Amino acid sequence: MTRPSISPVTPVLTKRWLSPNSWTLRTYEQLEGYTALRKALAGTPDQLVELVKSAGLRGRGGAGFPAGVKWSFMPKEPTKPHYLVINADEGEPGTCKDIPLMMADPHSLIEGCIIASYAMRANHCMIYVRGEALHPIRRLNNAVREAYQAGYLGKDILGSGFDLDIVVHAGAGAYICGEETALLDSLEGKRGQPRLKPPFPAAAGLYACPTTVNNVETIATVPYIVNGGADWFRTMGGEKSPGPKIYSISGHVEKPGQYEAPLGTTLRELLELAGGMKDGIPLKFWTPGGSSTPMFTAEHLDVPLDFEGAAEAGSMLGTTAVMVFNETVSVPWAVMKWTQFYEHESCGKCTPCREGTYWLAQVLERMVEGHGTQEDIDTLLDICDNIFGRSFCALGDGAVSPIVSGIKYFREEFLALCRQNTGGMKNPGEPELV
Ligand code: NAD
Ligand code: SF4
Repeated sequence: MTRPSISPVTPVLTKRWLSPNSWTLRTYEQLEGYTALRKALAGTPDQLVELVKSAGLRGRGGAGFPAGVKWSFMPKEPTKPHYLVINADEGEPGTCKDIPLMMADPHSLIEGCIIASYAMRANHCMIYVRGEALHPIRRLNNAVREAYQAGYLGKDILGSGFDLDIVVHAGAGAYICGEETALLDSLEGKRGQPRLKPPFPAAAGLYACPTTVNNVETIATVPYIVNGGADWFRTMGGEKSPGPKIYSISGHVEKPGQYEAPLGTTLRELLELAGGMKDGIPLKFWTPGGSSTPMFTAEHLDVPLDFEGAAEAGSMLGTTAVMVFNETVSVPWAVMKWTQFYEHESCGKCTPCREGTYWLAQVLERMVEGHGTQEDIDTLLDICDNIFGRSFCALGDGAVSPIVSGIKYFREEFLALCRQNTGGMKNPGEPELV
């Protein structure tokens, strides 16, 4: 199948980012802002759901669930309040697309929220932002205030009879609160831990009411679909993964940052945008969508970065957080750092993840300190096998991804580290043998 290259129609989502005062209502309105809302309110909620379905918009938070299908799970006859909750808890290592979007163009998210709420018959919308992201929270609050003053929020929006209130809520900086049901618990004032699914949020979400949780980028894409139409949206990306996407590129590249390109763009093409490898030092490994997605190597430069392409090549698209590492980086060291992150962020609800991530970190720390044995590699894989598919939520599966893929592609490097072992088995923190 031929895949599109960097499309001349981009940028879409980032087109206002470099305009002066791009975050203000004035600039937003000058650049077509809130025109999609007028169009959306002139139609019916069900027409909007069908439009988003036919555009093929897939969730931009990592899992890629079709957004229009998710919206269609919301009851059509409200017997309880309906909620739209925006997951702005962007926490996946390497992911930096939602925060820049909220900083540069908060009104695109707000306009998307109003349209999506109308489509799902929701009169309440919460935007749950990472607690550490103080500037985006302030900027969003200012934009929400502007939208109320202009009549885009509140009662009888633009004379349509539709009411909507938006609340910006600051989280407390726990990675697990990016998991949608832990996020809902956190919003309800409880300790953020995942709930059993089903029931999915559309059946019983916030305060046990019908709720849809969508990612920031997903909802910010909606006004463009309303204005451009489904066929236009499908001119970008592949058949099953259409549309533009913001890739966040970090690590050993000349120009790290956010790059918008159609889904299906390859790392080779993204590297061109990002100025190539830093100082010309060759690529060693990279992640297509954050550390929870299995790593790739230089062999995967031409893998189309969409949901199907990444999966066919043995990974996942995830959050399109492309972290690039050159030949100077030790794979076991990088894997250890990621594992320490998961150990720290494990919420502790289920045993495989709570105990397993702790154990994995111990073994990797021992290895990196030069006290590992060759058997430790099998131990790591065995623990990973007992976490994957046996954990309560996706954090457990994600935690093993860097280890399993790191050993798959760089086993020799792990072995070499173990061969250098001079001190025998050692627990981290034990004094050095003299
Ligand atoms: P998931 O596949 O379980 O669910 C995705 C969405 O689809 C959810 O909203 C869920 O409610 C809905 N859904 C799935 N099946 C459904 C069904 N049968 N009926 C109704 N709704 C259904 O994935 P997840 O656990 O929500 O997310 C995992 C992903 O999150 C990972 O792939 C990872 O890439 C990503 N992630 C992102 C970040 C970030 O910072 N953006 C952080 C960590 C992980
Ligand atoms: Fe908590 Fe980890 Fe279990 Fe998820 S997999 S519920 S984060 S302990």
